[in-house]
Formats: sequence, structure tokens, C-alpha cells
Amino acid sequence: MTLKDKVCIVTGAASGIGHGIAKRYVADGAKVVIVDLKLDAAQKAADELTAQGPGRAMAVQMDVTDEAQVNAGIDKVVKEWGRIDVLVSNAGVQIVHPMEKFPFSDWKKLLSIHLDGAFLTTKACLPHMYKAGSGTIIFMGSVHSKEASPLKSAYVTAKHGLLGLARVLSKEGAAHGVRANVICPGFVKTPLVEKQIPEQARDLGISEEEVVNHVMLGDTVDQQFTTIEDVAEVAYLFAAFPTNALTGQSLVVSHGWYMN
Ligand code: NAD
Repeated sequence: MTLKDKVCIVTGAASGIGHGIAKRYVADGAKVVIVDLKLDAAQKAADELTAQGPGRAMAVQMDVTDEAQVNAGIDKVVKEWGRIDVLVSNAGVQIVHPMEKFPFSDWKKLLSIHLDGAFLTTKACLPHMYKAGSGTIIFMGSVHSKEASPLKSAYVTAKHGLLGLARVLSKEGAAHGVRANVICPGFVKTPLVEKQIPEQARDLGISEEEVVNHVMLGDTVDQQFTTIEDVAEVAYLFAAFPTNALTGQSLVVSHGWYMN
């Protein structure tokens, strides 16, 4: 299995898990597109990864909820590098509130980034993948694709939704050699999670230490955070796996928080 010279688009790759996946792909010789909201942040990540080699990276600015920006960004990739082999739909945010106080605008914003973003980027890549007769699409789910937690109504709804999207895509894409899978990480210490620790402490009325030890890691087998590298390794497996044998699946990487 190798990603050498494969064109791999990773959304939300200026930070956190997306950045780790891009780094893993470049380390295997891939040509990686760093998609993020701000061009300067994406460019900085792309320059660093190109310097690291042996693959290389380019930056594309895109808000994944904006259809025109998504289509323009994907066109740019095809113009520059001629094809698309892998899409990792990873861009995401977290917004926590008890349901009775959840602002409708926050609900719509979260669903749009996770679900519209996954749909629009997939839709824009598929014609290129179908034309080539191959491709792999990976959606960044979560343990919250399988489990629920208080305060996370929008996030849990969105992450469950991605399982459905991947299953439909695996059925539609099979005849074209296109595969779809979901990665479901437990808690990973990224800016998205760092922000939640004080927010959850406030909303649940407990200390930040209790949020980490009980809410985030309480159900793991060893009270460990999942790492960016752990998730990137799974993203490598799904991207490089060479046949339709591995499609329509969701793989939980969470220190045993969720077992299926
Ligand atoms: P992060 O905040 O470090 O990175 C998210 C990136 O997405 C940022 O660079 C941000 O600018 C980008 N982004 C946000 N909205 C965007 C938009 N509309 N268009 C383009 N880019 C946008 O977060 P992370 O923890 O690395 O999360 C990445 C993904 O992993 C998310 O889908 C998240 O739900 C998922 N996830 C994270 C964890 C965790 O514990 N950190 C666990 C399970 C799943």
C-alpha cells in the first residue's frame, strides 16, 4: 500500500487532526491539498509539509459550507494536479449547550459545517473520481457517531449523519471504484477539545479536572487521550487500502471508550 504521488485533499488541515493526516500522507510521498478557512494558515501548513517531504502540499482556501468556494477550490486542484485520489472530509467545530438553550443559529452552523461540508466536497470530487474509475472518501466521524453525550445534540446528530452518508456513497460509488469510510476517534487533544474543557465544566457544574478524567476519559480502558498520530494512521489505512473490500465501514479509535 502506498500513497506515493496520489492527490489527497484534506479539509480543516491547517490544525489538529487534519494537519496530522496531511503530515502522514506527505511522509508517504503524497501530493496533499491543505484546505482551510484562512489561506495564510493553510499556506503555512503546506510550506512546512513540503519542506518535510518526500511528498508535497499546496494550500487552498475554502469555506466548506459555501458551494461556490468548494467548487472553485476543487477545480483549482484538478487544474494544478490533474486528478483527485483521496478526499478526507475533516473540517469541523464543536458547540455545546443544553438542548433547551441551544441557539438555533448554532445548531444550523454546526450541521452545515459537518454535513453540508461533507456533502459539497464529496459532490465536487465525485465526477473526477468516477472519470478515473477510482477514489477514496473518508469522513471524520467520532465516537459521537455511535454514542451520545449531554450538551452535544448538534454534534451527535451530525456525526451520526455522516455514517448514513458514507453508507450511501459506498453503494453508489462501488461501480466506479469509489470507496467511503468513517473514522470515529475518541477525545484527541486539539484546539477543538481544549476549548470544550472549560465550557463543559461551566455547563455541567464540575471542575475542569473532572471533565477530563470522568467525562472525556472515564470510559476508556486506560484513561488515555487518543492522539493525532493514532487517527492519522487509520486515515492512512483507509486511503491506501487498494480494493472495495474496505468500504461502508466506520472504525473507532478511542482507547476502548466505545466497543463494537
Ligand atoms: P481543530 O479545531 O484543531 O481543526 C479543525 C479545522 O477545521 C480548523 O483548522 C478550522 O479552521 C477548520 N474549519 C472549521 N470550519 C471550517 C469551514 N467551514 N471550512 C473549512 N475549514 C473549516 O479540530 P480537530 O479536533 O482537529 O477536529 C477535526 C475533526 O475531527 C472534526 O470534524 C471533529 O469533529 C473531529 N473529531 C475531533 C475529535 C477530538 O477529540 N479532537 C474527536 C472526534 C472527532
